[in-house]
Amino acid sequence: MPAGKGRKYCSATCRTLAWKARRASAAVALSQALGMSLEKARDVVDAAGMKELQRILTGLGLVYNTASRRWVVLVDQDVFVRQESI
Ligand SMILES: [Zn+2]
Repeated sequence: MPAGKGRKYCSATCRTLAWKARRASAAVALSQALGMSLEKARDVVDAAGMKELQRILTGLGLVYNTASRRWVVLVDQDVFVRQESI
């Protein structure tokens, strides 16, 4: 959980879990956005750095919502959660 003034995460473990959740969610978002299998999307995620992934997903009109830990699509200011689960 986010905690502490000026600190994004309360511990290294927390940071690692957040990173894993972000990448797992990225694979789901990619498979949905590009119509590829989840297995293939996971390969793409594994091969790409987080910065590259961020660029790809942003290019697809997706933004990461840290509260729900989902990549979501922005439409007319409203955020719609596209993913049912990680
Ligand atoms: Zn924490």
